Amino acid sequence: MFFKWRSFRRGVVTCACEPEWPGLRAVVDGHEVAGVPSPEGSSPLVLMLGLSASCTGCGAEYPYTWAVAPRG
Ligand SMILES: [Zn+2]
Repeated sequence: MFFKWRSFRRGVVTCACEPEWPGLRAVVDGHEVAGVPSPEGSSPLVLMLGLSASCTGCGAEYPYTWAVAPRG
């Protein structure tokens, strides 16, 4: 938990992809799900479960708010 906060420092989390953040993914209950950027704030599910999304390209942890994408 505390390690996460330390890694949250400005400038530490970067996406190496071009363009940045081609896609987001997260693991929910052992299953990989897609995520979408959510500038208005993370979805209740994300906040409730304390999920973190990472880049599908380079694996960097997504530092902004996001939501789990609806399942097609
Ligand atoms: Zn990336």
